Amino acid sequence: MAHLTALDTLDVRFPTSRELDGSDAMNPDPDYSAAYVILRTDDPAGPQGHGFAFTIGRGNDVQRVAIESLAHLVVGRSVAEIAGNLGGFARSLTADSQLRWLGPEKGVMHMAVGAVINAAWDLAAKLAGKPVWQLVAEMSPEEIADLIDFRYLTDALTPGEALAILRRAEPGRQERIARLLDTGYPAYTTSPGWLGYSDEKLARLARQAVADGFGTIKIKVGRDVDEDVRRVKVAREAIGPDIGLAVDANQRWDVDVAVDWISRLASANPAWIEEPTSPDDILGHAAIRRRVAPVRISTGEHGQNRILFKQLLQAGAVDLVQIDAARVAGVNENLAILLLAAKFGVPVVPHAGGVGLCELVQHLAMIDYVAITGTTEDRAIEFVDHLHEHFRHPVRVVGGRYLAPREPGFSAEMLPASLRDYTYPSGAAWQADPQARSFQPQENS
Ligand SMILES: [Mg+2]
Repeated sequence: MAHLTALDTLDVRFPTSRELDGSDAMNPDPDYSAAYVILRTDDPAGPQGHGFAFTIGRGNDVQRVAIESLAHLVVGRSVAEIAGNLGGFARSLTADSQLRWLGPEKGVMHMAVGAVINAAWDLAAKLAGKPVWQLVAEMSPEEIADLIDFRYLTDALTPGEALAILRRAEPGRQERIARLLDTGYPAYTTSPGWLGYSDEKLARLARQAVADGFGTIKIKVGRDVDEDVRRVKVAREAIGPDIGLAVDANQRWDVDVAVDWISRLASANPAWIEEPTSPDDILGHAAIRRRVAPVRISTGEHGQNRILFKQLLQAGAVDLVQIDAARVAGVNENLAILLLAAKFGVPVVPHAGGVGLCELVQHLAMIDYVAITGTTEDRAIEFVDHLHEHFRHPVRVVGGRYLAPREPGFSAEMLPASLRDYTYPSGAAWQADPQARSFQPQENS
Protein backbone atom coordinates (compact mmCIF):
# COMPACT_ATOMS: atom_id res chain seq x y z
CA MET A 1 0.00 0.00 0.00
CA ALA A 2 1.78 3.14 -1.24
CA HIS A 3 1.74 6.41 0.67
CA LEU A 4 2.69 9.95 -0.28
CA THR A 5 6.11 10.72 1.17
CA ALA A 6 6.76 14.26 -0.09
CA LEU A 7 5.28 17.30 -1.72
CA ASP A 8 8.24 18.84 -3.58
CA THR A 9 8.09 22.23 -5.28
CA LEU A 10 10.20 23.85 -7.99
CA ASP A 11 10.34 27.45 -9.27
CA VAL A 12 10.43 27.03 -13.05
CA ARG A 13 10.55 30.17 -15.22
CA PHE A 14 10.96 30.68 -18.96
CA PRO A 15 12.43 33.99 -20.20
CA THR A 16 9.60 34.58 -22.69
CA SER A 17 9.63 38.36 -22.15
CA ARG A 18 12.77 38.60 -24.28
CA GLU A 19 10.73 37.89 -27.44
CA LEU A 20 7.50 39.60 -26.24
CA ASP A 21 5.71 36.24 -26.53
CA GLY A 22 2.62 36.46 -24.36
CA SER A 23 2.62 40.28 -24.24
CA ASP A 24 -0.74 42.00 -23.85
CA ALA A 25 -2.25 45.25 -22.64
CA MET A 26 -1.85 44.44 -18.94
CA ASN A 27 1.16 42.13 -19.08
CA PRO A 28 3.90 43.73 -21.18
CA ASP A 29 6.78 41.48 -20.05
CA PRO A 30 5.60 38.03 -18.97
CA ASP A 31 8.08 35.28 -18.14
CA TYR A 32 5.85 32.22 -18.41
CA SER A 33 6.40 30.28 -15.22
CA ALA A 34 5.28 27.22 -13.33
CA ALA A 35 5.21 26.91 -9.56
CA TYR A 36 5.69 23.20 -10.01
CA VAL A 37 4.73 20.42 -7.62
CA ILE A 38 5.69 16.75 -7.52
CA LEU A 39 3.80 14.33 -5.26
CA ARG A 40 6.25 11.54 -4.41
CA THR A 41 5.34 8.11 -3.06
CA ASP A 42 7.17 5.27 -1.31
CA ASP A 43 6.54 2.95 -4.26
CA PRO A 44 9.82 3.08 -6.22
CA ALA A 45 8.17 1.42 -9.25
CA GLY A 46 5.05 3.57 -9.12
CA PRO A 47 4.29 6.93 -10.73
CA GLN A 48 4.58 10.41 -9.24
CA GLY A 49 1.95 13.10 -9.53
CA HIS A 50 2.97 16.28 -11.37
CA GLY A 51 1.11 19.58 -11.35
CA PHE A 52 1.70 23.34 -11.34
CA ALA A 53 0.24 26.75 -10.92
CA PHE A 54 0.90 29.10 -13.83
CA THR A 55 2.35 32.54 -13.06
CA ILE A 56 4.18 35.06 -15.23
CA GLY A 57 7.41 35.41 -13.26
CA ARG A 58 7.82 36.92 -9.80
CA GLY A 59 4.45 35.47 -8.83
CA ASN A 60 6.33 32.21 -8.41
CA ASP A 61 8.07 33.65 -5.30
CA VAL A 62 4.69 33.63 -3.54
CA GLN A 63 2.97 30.79 -5.35
CA ARG A 64 5.61 28.21 -4.53
CA VAL A 65 5.43 28.93 -0.79
CA ALA A 66 1.63 28.67 -0.92
CA ILE A 67 1.89 25.21 -2.47
CA GLU A 68 4.42 24.12 0.17
CA SER A 69 2.01 25.18 2.91
CA LEU A 70 -0.34 22.36 1.86
CA ALA A 71 2.19 19.60 2.55
CA HIS A 72 0.69 18.75 5.96
CA LEU A 73 -2.60 17.86 4.21
CA VAL A 74 -0.91 15.50 1.75
CA VAL A 75 2.22 13.81 3.09
CA GLY A 76 1.53 10.47 4.76
CA ARG A 77 -1.82 9.85 3.08
CA SER A 78 -2.59 6.63 1.25
CA VAL A 79 -2.32 6.86 -2.53
CA ALA A 80 -5.19 4.40 -3.00
CA GLU A 81 -7.40 6.39 -0.66
CA ILE A 82 -6.75 9.63 -2.59
CA ALA A 83 -7.13 8.05 -6.04
CA GLY A 84 -10.33 6.36 -4.92
CA ASN A 85 -11.88 9.54 -3.55
CA LEU A 86 -10.62 12.57 -5.46
CA GLY A 87 -13.73 14.52 -4.42
CA GLY A 88 -12.94 14.01 -0.76
CA PHE A 89 -9.27 14.83 -1.36
CA ALA A 90 -10.16 18.10 -3.07
CA ARG A 91 -12.52 19.10 -0.25
CA SER A 92 -9.85 18.32 2.36
CA LEU A 93 -7.52 20.86 0.69
CA THR A 94 -10.07 23.67 0.48
CA ALA A 95 -11.30 23.00 4.03
CA ASP A 96 -8.13 23.80 6.02
CA SER A 97 -9.60 26.64 8.06
CA GLN A 98 -6.33 28.47 8.74
CA LEU A 99 -5.40 28.56 5.06
CA ARG A 100 -9.01 29.13 3.92
CA TRP A 101 -8.89 32.44 5.79
CA LEU A 102 -6.60 33.77 3.05
CA GLY A 103 -9.38 33.39 0.46
CA PRO A 104 -11.80 31.84 0.94
CA GLU A 105 -11.35 29.82 -2.23
CA LYS A 106 -9.63 32.52 -4.27
CA GLY A 107 -6.25 33.91 -5.17
CA VAL A 108 -2.79 32.50 -4.54
CA MET A 109 -3.90 29.93 -1.96
CA HIS A 110 -6.68 28.62 -4.18
CA MET A 111 -4.28 28.32 -7.12
CA ALA A 112 -1.94 26.35 -4.84
CA VAL A 113 -4.81 24.03 -3.95
CA GLY A 114 -5.52 23.66 -7.68
CA ALA A 115 -1.90 22.70 -8.41
CA VAL A 116 -1.93 19.96 -5.76
CA ILE A 117 -5.36 18.63 -6.77
CA ASN A 118 -4.26 18.50 -10.40
CA ALA A 119 -1.07 16.67 -9.37
CA ALA A 120 -3.24 14.13 -7.54
CA TRP A 121 -5.31 13.70 -10.74
CA ASP A 122 -2.09 13.14 -12.68
CA LEU A 123 -1.09 10.46 -10.19
CA ALA A 124 -4.53 8.81 -10.16
CA ALA A 125 -4.77 8.75 -13.95
CA LYS A 126 -1.28 7.26 -14.27
CA LEU A 127 -2.28 4.54 -11.79
CA ALA A 128 -5.45 3.90 -13.80
CA GLY A 129 -3.43 3.75 -17.03
CA LYS A 130 -5.61 6.41 -18.70
CA PRO A 131 -5.42 10.07 -19.67
CA VAL A 132 -7.43 12.24 -17.27
CA TRP A 133 -10.09 13.06 -19.88
CA GLN A 134 -10.80 9.40 -20.41
CA LEU A 135 -10.67 8.54 -16.70
CA VAL A 136 -13.51 11.02 -16.06
CA ALA A 137 -15.37 10.33 -19.30
CA GLU A 138 -15.68 6.69 -18.32
CA MET A 139 -16.98 7.35 -14.79
CA SER A 140 -20.67 6.98 -14.01
CA PRO A 141 -22.72 10.19 -13.69
CA GLU A 142 -22.90 9.54 -9.93
CA GLU A 143 -19.11 9.21 -9.66
CA ILE A 144 -18.61 12.47 -11.57
CA ALA A 145 -21.17 14.32 -9.43
CA ASP A 146 -19.40 13.04 -6.29
CA LEU A 147 -16.23 14.86 -7.40
CA ILE A 148 -17.93 18.24 -7.07
CA ASP A 149 -18.35 20.53 -4.08
CA PHE A 150 -21.87 21.90 -4.60
CA ARG A 151 -21.63 24.27 -1.64
CA TYR A 152 -22.76 27.78 -2.71
CA LEU A 153 -24.04 26.44 -6.07
CA THR A 154 -27.41 24.92 -5.28
CA ASP A 155 -29.44 28.06 -6.05
CA ALA A 156 -28.20 27.67 -9.64
CA LEU A 157 -27.23 24.00 -9.92
CA THR A 158 -28.31 21.21 -7.58
CA PRO A 159 -26.62 17.81 -7.47
CA GLY A 160 -29.83 16.42 -8.98
CA GLU A 161 -29.66 18.82 -11.92
CA ALA A 162 -25.99 18.01 -12.46
CA LEU A 163 -26.83 14.30 -12.47
CA ALA A 164 -29.59 14.90 -15.01
CA ILE A 165 -27.14 16.71 -17.34
CA LEU A 166 -24.60 13.90 -16.98
CA ARG A 167 -27.23 11.18 -17.52
CA ARG A 168 -28.56 12.94 -20.62
CA ALA A 169 -25.04 12.75 -22.10
CA GLU A 170 -24.55 9.08 -21.23
CA PRO A 171 -25.93 7.64 -24.48
CA GLY A 172 -23.37 8.21 -27.22
CA ARG A 173 -20.35 8.50 -24.95
CA GLN A 174 -18.55 5.63 -26.68
CA GLU A 175 -19.12 7.09 -30.16
CA ARG A 176 -17.85 10.47 -28.98
CA ILE A 177 -14.74 8.90 -27.44
CA ALA A 178 -14.10 7.13 -30.74
CA ARG A 179 -14.62 10.37 -32.69
CA LEU A 180 -12.31 12.25 -30.33
CA LEU A 181 -9.57 9.64 -30.75
CA ASP A 182 -10.11 9.78 -34.49
CA THR A 183 -10.43 13.49 -35.26
CA GLY A 184 -9.62 15.40 -32.07
CA TYR A 185 -11.16 18.64 -30.77
CA PRO A 186 -11.25 22.07 -32.50
CA ALA A 187 -8.55 24.59 -31.62
CA TYR A 188 -8.13 28.32 -32.16
CA THR A 189 -4.81 30.12 -31.99
CA THR A 190 -3.48 33.23 -30.25
CA SER A 191 0.06 32.84 -31.59
CA PRO A 192 -0.29 35.64 -34.23
CA GLY A 193 -1.73 38.32 -32.01
CA TRP A 194 0.53 39.28 -29.12
CA LEU A 195 0.55 43.01 -28.54
CA GLY A 196 4.31 43.38 -28.90
CA TYR A 197 4.33 42.03 -32.47
CA SER A 198 4.68 44.29 -35.54
CA ASP A 199 1.90 44.56 -38.16
CA GLU A 200 4.07 42.57 -40.55
CA LYS A 201 4.59 39.75 -38.04
CA LEU A 202 0.86 39.80 -37.13
CA ALA A 203 -0.21 39.49 -40.79
CA ARG A 204 2.34 36.80 -41.58
CA LEU A 205 1.44 34.67 -38.55
CA ALA A 206 -2.31 35.20 -39.14
CA ARG A 207 -2.00 33.92 -42.73
CA GLN A 208 0.07 31.01 -41.45
CA ALA A 209 -2.61 30.15 -38.87
CA VAL A 210 -5.27 29.93 -41.57
CA ALA A 211 -2.96 27.79 -43.71
CA ASP A 212 -2.45 25.55 -40.67
CA GLY A 213 -6.19 24.89 -40.47
CA PHE A 214 -7.36 27.15 -37.63
CA GLY A 215 -10.93 28.44 -37.94
CA THR A 216 -10.41 31.30 -35.47
CA ILE A 217 -7.44 33.46 -34.45
CA LYS A 218 -7.19 35.88 -31.55
CA ILE A 219 -5.37 39.18 -31.22
CA LYS A 220 -4.57 41.32 -28.20
CA VAL A 221 -5.91 44.88 -27.98
CA GLY A 222 -6.26 47.61 -25.37
CA ARG A 223 -3.14 49.78 -25.58
CA ASP A 224 -4.39 52.43 -28.01
CA VAL A 225 -7.73 52.48 -29.80
CA ASP A 226 -6.46 53.81 -33.14
CA GLU A 227 -3.67 51.26 -33.11
CA ASP A 228 -6.22 48.52 -32.35
CA VAL A 229 -8.51 49.58 -35.19
CA ARG A 230 -5.48 49.33 -37.48
CA ARG A 231 -4.29 45.95 -36.12
CA VAL A 232 -7.76 44.41 -36.27
CA LYS A 233 -7.96 45.57 -39.90
CA VAL A 234 -4.52 44.08 -40.67
CA ALA A 235 -5.62 40.77 -39.13
CA ARG A 236 -9.00 40.74 -40.89
CA GLU A 237 -7.37 41.44 -44.27
CA ALA A 238 -4.85 38.66 -43.66
CA ILE A 239 -7.41 35.98 -42.76
CA GLY A 240 -10.35 37.00 -44.96
CA PRO A 241 -14.04 37.28 -44.01
CA ASP A 242 -14.75 33.64 -43.12
CA ILE A 243 -12.23 33.03 -40.32
CA GLY A 244 -13.17 33.97 -36.77
CA LEU A 245 -11.28 36.95 -35.29
CA ALA A 246 -11.42 37.09 -31.51
CA VAL A 247 -10.20 40.16 -29.63
CA ASP A 248 -8.69 40.09 -26.13
CA ALA A 249 -8.45 43.21 -23.94
CA ASN A 250 -6.98 41.47 -20.88
CA GLN A 251 -9.06 43.50 -18.36
CA ARG A 252 -7.88 46.85 -19.71
CA TRP A 253 -11.05 48.95 -19.70
CA ASP A 254 -13.61 50.54 -17.41
CA VAL A 255 -17.18 49.79 -18.44
CA ASP A 256 -17.90 52.94 -20.45
CA VAL A 257 -14.47 52.82 -22.11
CA ALA A 258 -15.10 49.19 -23.05
CA VAL A 259 -18.36 50.07 -24.73
CA ASP A 260 -16.77 52.90 -26.78
CA TRP A 261 -13.70 50.85 -27.68
CA ILE A 262 -15.68 47.74 -28.67
CA SER A 263 -17.95 49.89 -30.82
CA ARG A 264 -14.87 51.05 -32.76
CA LEU A 265 -13.77 47.43 -33.31
CA ALA A 266 -17.18 45.98 -34.12
CA SER A 267 -16.90 46.56 -37.88
CA ALA A 268 -14.22 43.82 -38.04
CA ASN A 269 -16.96 41.40 -36.92
CA PRO A 270 -15.14 40.00 -33.86
CA ALA A 271 -15.93 36.43 -32.85
CA TRP A 272 -15.90 37.59 -29.23
CA ILE A 273 -14.43 40.30 -26.98
CA GLU A 274 -12.42 38.72 -24.18
CA GLU A 275 -11.89 40.12 -20.67
CA PRO A 276 -13.12 43.65 -21.43
CA THR A 277 -12.88 44.68 -17.77
CA SER A 278 -12.05 43.43 -14.27
CA PRO A 279 -12.62 39.67 -14.01
CA ASP A 280 -14.49 40.25 -10.73
CA ASP A 281 -16.97 42.75 -12.20
CA ILE A 282 -20.00 40.62 -12.91
CA LEU A 283 -22.43 43.53 -13.30
CA GLY A 284 -19.87 45.40 -15.43
CA HIS A 285 -19.67 42.49 -17.85
CA ALA A 286 -23.46 42.31 -17.94
CA ALA A 287 -23.71 46.04 -18.73
CA ILE A 288 -21.06 45.86 -21.46
CA ARG A 289 -22.73 42.82 -23.01
CA ARG A 290 -26.12 44.55 -23.05
CA ARG A 291 -24.72 47.74 -24.59
CA VAL A 292 -22.58 46.19 -27.36
CA ALA A 293 -24.95 43.38 -28.39
CA PRO A 294 -24.79 41.43 -30.65
CA VAL A 295 -20.99 41.50 -30.13
CA ARG A 296 -20.23 38.53 -27.87
CA ILE A 297 -18.53 38.95 -24.49
CA SER A 298 -16.39 36.37 -22.73
CA THR A 299 -14.31 36.06 -19.60
CA GLY A 300 -13.13 33.42 -17.13
CA GLU A 301 -9.37 32.86 -17.34
CA HIS A 302 -9.00 34.94 -14.14
CA GLY A 303 -12.30 33.73 -12.70
CA GLN A 304 -11.40 32.92 -9.13
CA ASN A 305 -13.86 30.16 -8.32
CA ARG A 306 -17.15 28.41 -9.19
CA ILE A 307 -19.21 31.03 -7.35
CA LEU A 308 -18.01 33.81 -9.65
CA PHE A 309 -18.88 31.69 -12.70
CA LYS A 310 -22.29 30.98 -11.21
CA GLN A 311 -22.98 34.70 -10.92
CA LEU A 312 -21.65 35.52 -14.41
CA LEU A 313 -24.13 33.00 -15.76
CA GLN A 314 -27.02 34.04 -13.51
CA ALA A 315 -26.50 37.70 -14.49
CA GLY A 316 -26.42 36.96 -18.22
CA ALA A 317 -22.99 38.64 -18.28
CA VAL A 318 -21.23 36.39 -20.81
CA ASP A 319 -21.83 34.68 -24.15
CA LEU A 320 -18.88 32.31 -23.64
CA VAL A 321 -17.10 30.95 -20.57
CA GLN A 322 -13.32 30.62 -20.56
CA ILE A 323 -12.14 28.13 -17.98
CA ASP A 324 -8.49 27.89 -16.94
CA ALA A 325 -7.12 24.56 -15.75
CA ALA A 326 -4.73 26.06 -13.20
CA ARG A 327 -6.63 28.98 -11.61
CA VAL A 328 -9.43 27.30 -9.67
CA ALA A 329 -9.28 24.21 -7.45
CA GLY A 330 -8.28 21.74 -10.11
CA VAL A 331 -10.29 19.27 -12.16
CA ASN A 332 -13.01 19.09 -9.53
CA GLU A 333 -13.97 22.77 -9.50
CA ASN A 334 -13.69 22.98 -13.28
CA LEU A 335 -16.20 20.13 -13.55
CA ALA A 336 -18.58 22.26 -11.49
CA ILE A 337 -18.03 25.20 -13.87
CA LEU A 338 -18.54 23.00 -16.95
CA LEU A 339 -21.82 21.75 -15.50
CA LEU A 340 -22.95 25.29 -14.60
CA ALA A 341 -22.23 26.43 -18.17
CA ALA A 342 -24.14 23.43 -19.53
CA LYS A 343 -27.10 24.26 -17.30
CA PHE A 344 -27.19 27.83 -18.64
CA GLY A 345 -26.51 26.74 -22.24
CA VAL A 346 -23.31 28.81 -22.54
CA PRO A 347 -20.41 27.31 -24.55
CA VAL A 348 -17.04 26.82 -22.87
CA VAL A 349 -14.01 28.03 -24.82
CA PRO A 350 -11.01 27.16 -22.63
CA HIS A 351 -8.13 29.54 -21.94
CA ALA A 352 -4.65 28.14 -22.52
CA GLY A 353 -2.19 31.04 -22.99
CA GLY A 354 0.69 30.11 -20.70
CA VAL A 355 3.14 27.32 -20.12
CA GLY A 356 1.44 23.94 -19.81
CA LEU A 357 -2.10 25.29 -19.87
CA CYS A 358 -2.82 23.78 -23.30
CA GLU A 359 -1.56 20.45 -21.99
CA LEU A 360 -3.96 20.54 -19.03
CA VAL A 361 -7.10 22.17 -20.34
CA GLN A 362 -7.49 19.95 -23.40
CA HIS A 363 -8.54 17.19 -20.98
CA LEU A 364 -11.33 19.35 -19.54
CA ALA A 365 -12.75 20.32 -22.94
CA MET A 366 -12.76 16.67 -23.94
CA ILE A 367 -14.64 15.72 -20.75
CA ASP A 368 -17.20 18.42 -21.61
CA TYR A 369 -17.65 16.91 -25.06
CA VAL A 370 -17.88 13.26 -24.05
CA ALA A 371 -19.71 13.39 -20.72
CA ILE A 372 -21.44 16.76 -20.29
CA THR A 373 -22.63 18.65 -23.39
CA GLY A 374 -21.96 16.09 -26.12
CA THR A 375 -21.00 18.79 -28.62
CA THR A 376 -18.02 20.79 -29.94
CA GLU A 377 -20.32 23.25 -31.72
CA ASP A 378 -19.21 26.88 -31.21
CA ARG A 379 -16.34 25.66 -29.03
CA ALA A 380 -12.55 25.57 -29.42
CA ILE A 381 -9.54 25.21 -27.14
CA GLU A 382 -7.01 28.03 -27.26
CA PHE A 383 -3.65 27.05 -28.71
CA VAL A 384 -0.41 28.96 -28.26
CA ASP A 385 2.56 27.41 -29.97
CA HIS A 386 5.43 27.76 -27.57
CA LEU A 387 7.14 25.89 -24.71
CA HIS A 388 5.47 22.55 -25.53
CA GLU A 389 8.88 21.00 -26.07
CA HIS A 390 9.44 21.03 -22.31
CA PHE A 391 6.70 18.47 -21.66
CA ARG A 392 7.01 14.71 -21.62
CA HIS A 393 3.70 14.42 -23.50
CA PRO A 394 3.16 17.73 -25.31
CA VAL A 395 -0.11 18.61 -27.00
CA ARG A 396 -0.44 17.60 -30.61
CA VAL A 397 -2.39 20.09 -32.72
CA VAL A 398 -2.83 19.03 -36.34
CA GLY A 399 -4.97 20.73 -38.95
CA GLY A 400 -6.36 23.13 -36.35
CA ARG A 401 -7.44 20.36 -33.97
CA TYR A 402 -6.14 19.00 -30.68
CA LEU A 403 -5.50 15.26 -30.98
CA ALA A 404 -6.77 13.47 -27.89
CA PRO A 405 -3.95 12.58 -25.48
CA ARG A 406 -3.52 8.83 -25.09
CA GLU A 407 -0.78 8.67 -22.47
CA PRO A 408 -1.80 8.02 -18.84
CA GLY A 409 -1.91 11.14 -16.67
CA PHE A 410 -2.73 14.83 -17.00
CA SER A 411 -0.01 15.71 -19.60
CA ALA A 412 1.44 17.93 -16.85
CA GLU A 413 4.88 16.42 -16.50
CA MET A 414 7.85 18.48 -17.66
CA LEU A 415 11.09 16.87 -18.83
CA PRO A 416 13.81 16.54 -16.15
CA ALA A 417 16.25 18.59 -18.25
CA SER A 418 13.72 21.43 -18.59
CA LEU A 419 13.02 21.42 -14.86
CA ARG A 420 16.76 21.62 -14.24
CA ASP A 421 17.69 24.25 -16.83
CA TYR A 422 14.79 26.64 -16.17
CA THR A 423 14.77 26.49 -12.36
CA TYR A 424 15.06 30.09 -11.21
CA PRO A 425 17.62 31.49 -10.70
CA SER A 426 20.08 28.58 -10.60
CA GLY A 427 19.24 26.91 -13.94
CA ALA A 428 21.47 27.26 -16.98
CA ALA A 429 18.91 29.35 -18.86
CA TRP A 430 18.96 31.97 -16.10
CA GLN A 431 22.67 31.77 -15.35
CA ALA A 432 23.20 33.06 -18.90
CA ASP A 433 21.08 36.13 -18.04
CA PRO A 434 22.99 38.89 -16.19
CA GLN A 435 19.78 40.46 -14.84
CA ALA A 436 18.68 37.19 -13.26
CA ARG A 437 22.15 36.60 -11.83
CA SER A 438 22.00 39.93 -10.02
CA PHE A 439 18.84 38.75 -8.18
CA GLN A 440 20.51 35.62 -6.83
CA PRO A 441 20.37 35.07 -3.09
CA GLN A 442 23.76 35.55 -1.39
CA GLU A 443 24.22 31.92 -0.38
CA ASN A 444 24.14 30.87 -4.03
CA SER A 445 26.78 33.28 -5.24
MG1 LIG B 1 -7.19 36.10 -22.59
